[in-house]
Amino acid sequence: MELSGLQIFKYLPAAKKADHTNCKTCGFPTCMAFALKLAKEEVSPDACPFMPEELREKVALAQKISQKTIEIQGLKIGGENVLFRHEKTFLNPTSLCVLLDCADKNFEEKFDRIADFEINILNKTKKVDLIVLKNSDKISPLAGNARTISFEDFEKLPLKIIEDKDFEKTAQELKFNREKAVREKDENYSNPVCVRLPKSDGNDFNNLAAKASFYLCKYANMLLFEEFSEEMFASLLMLRENIFTDPQKPLKVEPKIYEFNGGDENALIFLTTNFALTFFAVASELEKLSRPSYLIVTPADGMSVLTAWSAEKFTAQMVVKTLKDYDLASKVKTRKIIIPGLLAHMKKELDAEIKSSGLDFEIVIGTIDACDIADFVKQF
Ligand code: SF4
Repeated sequence: MELSGLQIFKYLPAAKKADHTNCKTCGFPTCMAFALKLAKEEVSPDACPFMPEELREKVALAQKISQKTIEIQGLKIGGENVLFRHEKTFLNPTSLCVLLDCADKNFEEKFDRIADFEINILNKTKKVDLIVLKNSDKISPLAGNARTISFEDFEKLPLKIIEDKDFEKTAQELKFNREKAVREKDENYSNPVCVRLPKSDGNDFNNLAAKASFYLCKYANMLLFEEFSEEMFASLLMLRENIFTDPQKPLKVEPKIYEFNGGDENALIFLTTNFALTFFAVASELEKLSRPSYLIVTPADGMSVLTAWSAEKFTAQMVVKTLKDYDLASKVKTRKIIIPGLLAHMKKELDAEIKSSGLDFEIVIGTIDACDIADFVKQF
């Protein structure tokens, strides 16, 4: 298990008000500063000569590798150190792979379908991670940019393979494996885990997708499917994107002006922050409108509008700077800027700042929820 700075600090002289409290021998001004650095593995435990043996053992255990990392042509599998992403973060997303038999009479068609599949999530292209080829000696080398591996080579990888015959058993085994690896650092469980999902009866992709979703969340490092469906992979990739993000880093989009339905000089102008969730909620509503619009996205470190406002990442001065940086006044005749309803209290302040900067825009309070934008625009 990971050790936090606070957990480490509890064992140090300062927490016990003992001799050598904040003595600086370690090179840090306080025991707390040393504990925080040690938690991040940025300093050796040996730097503090007054560390109790019990803490030394805990640190050694925490720093022991929980799970090995396997790398296949740039694809990293395993290497996880935690049970829950809020403890730190998950490192390598569950690989979504397909097993394909080169002796299959429809092999080429199936291969092309899998290799060509891609979706865009948060401006990133996502594909099937790996195609495992059975009987690959029966085909000539494949062209294209799909990542492939022969079944013989796949079997040599230091992976623990679970054949998925019973949902409950597979789920329990996955949990048991990860707990042994992370909590006990048991080397017998340090290999990344792959669940092999057999063909479902009657192509029941719903059932397969439901099971795979569970295994993806807890705790498969790789899922190997024996059948492929674009819809199922799109859903799993989307789920994976949500699970394998760093909870300490907000999802954000590039701050700039986005154009919808061919934004023109009479387009509506909306404004929000670069928090990805807000952006995509608003963007999908603007796409549905039957008229052009612009969405000004301000830089706010990926914070939602109210958080950004309370953290002073969304101020009247910043909005004016954004309008000037984007030179919006020369692009549009429209002079009304619709702000999120949650920022209604900023209207006066924004109007005043815009006026004093020499711009002639006017702030209009929009909706609190993105789903109400269409109705709002009808009455606008
Ligand atoms: Fe605290 Fe140990 Fe550093 Fe002294 S050497 S300040 S006791 S952590």
